[in-house]
Amino acid sequence: MLSAGGAALEAVARAVTELENCPSFNAGHGAAFNRAGFHELDASVMDGATGKAGAVAAVQAIKNPVLAALELLRESDPLLLCGQAADQWATAHGLEAVPNSSFSTDSRREALARMLEREQQGTAAQASEQEKHGTVGAVALDRHGHLAAATSTGGYTAKPVGRVGDSPVIGAGTWADDRTCAVSGTGKGELFIRTALAHTIHDRMLYPGETLDVAARAAIDAVTRLDGGAGLCAVDRAGNVALPYNTEGMYRGWIRGDQMYVAIHED
Ligand code: ASP
Repeated sequence: MLSAGGAALEAVARAVTELENCPSFNAGHGAAFNRAGFHELDASVMDGATGKAGAVAAVQAIKNPVLAALELLRESDPLLLCGQAADQWATAHGLEAVPNSSFSTDSRREALARMLEREQQGTAAQASEQEKHGTVGAVALDRHGHLAAATSTGGYTAKPVGRVGDSPVIGAGTWADDRTCAVSGTGKGELFIRTALAHTIHDRMLYPGETLDVAARAAIDAVTRLDGGAGLCAVDRAGNVALPYNTEGMYRGWIRGDQMYVAIHED
């Protein structure tokens, strides 16, 4: 889409839709279970050209929550809808609804059983990032110089019912501004909200004039100091990419023209 001159906003929404549909990732089909054994999904999207954003929280029926977020962005107001009302709004706007069980996979069900068992044994803190997390996100710079970011998640395995993370919170898990960068985060959502993570990267680039690399690393370090796992993907207005994380690994990749990079652990 980007090589054909398409818009960053459409490209990130499309990329995240693909990831939501892929059972390997914790978003859409393959989302983590909450502790009651069903799925509540969060997603958002932001357009760096206009500063518009859309988000949904704790939705249970929209097949692709990121598309509901995109539709809200297009409508402009409201920006964020949650729960059943968001599901109904999205369906009324022509988006596909599916049974909640269609987000389930065997491996996520096993992860829930393991996590509940760990909690009983008091070893929940030792669970791997893989067991708990796996939010998906995409950022893009298009040929017209516009930036956009999108994020989608099932949250973390065995989260409390009704818990909302950073992914639908604009400025925490998602941010895009054509003057600076586009950011999408994954990790302990509560800490992303407390550090206003994605927006802080933008601020550090805009005011002290830090590079994307320095600002993104500082944002991850702020979460490290709070003892949380964090990672992000970001691109700046010049096309520089930053993919910092403080965990064992992070599934990540970028593509620029005919160059491509994918990695899980360190290089
Ligand atoms: N950030 C997500 C949340 O807290 C979880 C994750 O990234 O895996 O909901």
